[in-house]
Formats: sequence, C-alpha cells, structure tokens
Amino acid sequence: MADAILVLNAGSSSIKFSLFGAAALALDVHGQTEGLYTAPRFVARDPSGGTVAEKSWPEGTKLGHEGALEHLLAFLRDQLRGDRLVGVGHRIVHGGPGYTAPVRLDEGVLKSLQGLVPLAPLHQPHNLAPIALLLERAPGLPQVACFDTSFHRTNPDVAQRFALPVELHDAGVRRYGFHGLSYEYIASVLPRFDLKAAAGRTVVLHLGNGSSLCALASGASVASTMGFTALDGVPMGTRCGAVDPGVILFLLNERGMDARALERLLYDESGLLGVSGISSDMRALLSSDDPRAALAIDLYVYRIRRELGSLAAALGGLDAIVFTAGIGENSAAIRERVCRDAAWLGVGIDPAANGRGGPRISPPGARTAAWVIPTDEELMIARHTRRVLTGS
Ligand code: ADP
Repeated sequence: MADAILVLNAGSSSIKFSLFGAAALALDVHGQTEGLYTAPRFVARDPSGGTVAEKSWPEGTKLGHEGALEHLLAFLRDQLRGDRLVGVGHRIVHGGPGYTAPVRLDEGVLKSLQGLVPLAPLHQPHNLAPIALLLERAPGLPQVACFDTSFHRTNPDVAQRFALPVELHDAGVRRYGFHGLSYEYIASVLPRFDLKAAAGRTVVLHLGNGSSLCALASGASVASTMGFTALDGVPMGTRCGAVDPGVILFLLNERGMDARALERLLYDESGLLGVSGISSDMRALLSSDDPRAALAIDLYVYRIRRELGSLAAALGGLDAIVFTAGIGENSAAIRERVCRDAAWLGVGIDPAANGRGGPRISPPGARTAAWVIPTDEELMIARHTRRVLTGS
C-alpha cells in the first residue's frame, strides 16, 4: 500500500485537483470540476493528458463546492484502490502578514484564515470552502494550507509599504505579493539550471492569465509587482495591472460607479480583454491582425519592460531572467520582445534556442542569462504538505 497526497485549488467556479504519490511526489492523476454553479463538468487526466474519467451534469445544475468535493472523493476512492490518502494540501491566496510558511490546518487556523477574507473577498472564501467540508467529513485526514503570499514575506519592510498613513499599514493595508508558490518552485529548481542566477539577482516573469514579476536575491523574494491585491503590476488577461489611484476617484465621482461596478471593471473587463475588445487570451491576440490586438500586446510588453527595469533597480543589477507560466513558457514571440527590450540590462536572446523553448534562450556570452522554466505550483504544494506532515 502506497501513500498519496491530494492537492486542491478551489476557486469561485471550479475545483482543480492533483494526486501525487507521497514517496517520490510523482503525479498520478489531475483534473478539475468546472462550472460548479452553471454547467458542471468533471474531468480527470493522467500525467500525459489522457482522459481517465469524465462526467457532465445538466446545464443549470448547482453542484456547488460540496457536491464537487463529494464527487471527487468518490472518484479518488476508486482511483486510490488500496493506497492511502495521507494528506491534503490547499492553495490559499492570502496568508496575511502572519502566515510566512505553510501550516497544518485545524478549526483554529481555519478561523484565523476566515478572518483574512476581507483582504481577498473574491478568492479566500472559495479557497477555504473545501477545508471546512473536509474537517467535517474526514476529521482524521491531515490538511495543510499553502499561501500565495508567504514567499514574499522576506521582502524588506520598505518593499511592503504604501506611502499611506501608517495606521493603514498597521491595519494590514500592505503590499503582500502573489504567485508565491510559483516563484518558490522556480527558486527551488533554479540551481539545476544556473548556479550564478540562483546565488545572484534574478527576475522571474510569471506570465499567464494572471501575470506578475518577482525579484529574487539568492533565491529569496525581495520585491514583486503585485501589491495589496493581485490587481497591481503588469496588465493581465482581464485585470488592469497598475493604474493611477486617481482613476478610481474619477470613476467614483464623475461616472457614479459603485464598488461592485469597479470590481467588475478592474478584475474582469480590463487588461488584454479591455484594451483589445477582442479576447483575454494571448494566443487569440497573437493570431489576430486587428490593430486593437496589436495595441493590447504592445501595452502588455511595454509594462513588462518598465516593471523589469524597476525590479532590476530593486536588486541593484541583474544576472538572469526566467520566463514561466502559460505565456512565458509557450510564446517565443513575447519572450523575444521582452528580451530585446531588456538588451540595456545585458539580456541576450538566441532566436533559435528561443524558438525551441529553451531552457536557455540567451547566447552563451550574454551578460544576463535568459531561461524558460515551466512552473509547477501543485508540486510545490505537495512538497510543502509532505514536509509539514512528515518532516521530509
Ligand atoms: P493561469 O494564470 O490561468 O494559470 P496560464 O498560466 O495557463 O494561466 O496562462 C494562460 C495564458 O497563456 C493565456 O493567455 C494563453 O493564451 C497563453 N498561452 C498558452 N499557450 C500559448 C502559446 N502557445 N502562445 C501564446 N500564448 C499562450
């Protein structure tokens, strides 16, 4: 009988899962249930993408988090056969100022994480939903919370502050940073690729639907582009990235927008989608000949150029950059533009290596190396879960 670790990433309309063997942390099966409240669909795939199981519910079925979790647990009972589930690791968006590392969950910790809901009202409640359900259904099953914010708690104090009255900082209005599990994973594998970068100054560009950049000094986060929420920094699929806060005042005062309307605008209607009016999907924009698609890509690349310079300044120099996530791992065209814009920082690009997807995409003599390294947030959560539960 072998031990297994389940990783859960619960959002507002989907629950993603990955099952790992606990010994070697090898992926066994992964998948998701999406459309939890609209048209639920469950799919499980093996590591090479083959479908292991699928099920769809009729349009309008409100399966919810509870129903989806129940179905997943039933599927896992079959899938595990004689093997034993020894722990569940959860991706939790917000750990506040206090959770600087993953933590074993119990009722008390869950309560304190519920207290952080005001910091991430759109995500935290959904992340926490399966924890409460599992504590109730399977009280003996150990659970671990892994936070998107923890990795950035090594940022110096000045990097975590806004120039707002200090009372607000003390009340938790700070720059937290996100995508921490992705950056931690990249920092953990970077020594295999580039010892100088791992011990030196590296900027990781996590370019996906959500996009951010993080400055690593000797593998520790010292600054990142996301702030109090995951809205800040570079433009994203539908999120705005940094905007002058005066714009929000204008929209409130002159356009009569309320908080809900602003939330929709900034989270769902901006970024690549808002600028292009076509799509939030980089693939769709790259294959379009509409000038609005080109404008959205130009703005995306331009903001990355500016933020990369800012993080290089925070580091006091640059030894390497690393591309990761959907766009970073797959789009040679975006990588080439970002690297060419960063030539002044010593970044070089080898077009043939870039076309092949790396891992090294800079020529051997470049002063600043450029890499493509696939991220693996689920594996990072599985590693944390095993370590918290067993110490190994
Ligand atoms: P999420 O933040 O939801 O995890 P991903 O990291 O999967 O998102 O990134 C999704 C983005 O990656 C989308 O904009 C998608 O168009 C883009 N992407 C995926 N493959 C390619 C590709 N071959 N070329 C350009 N963009 C791509």
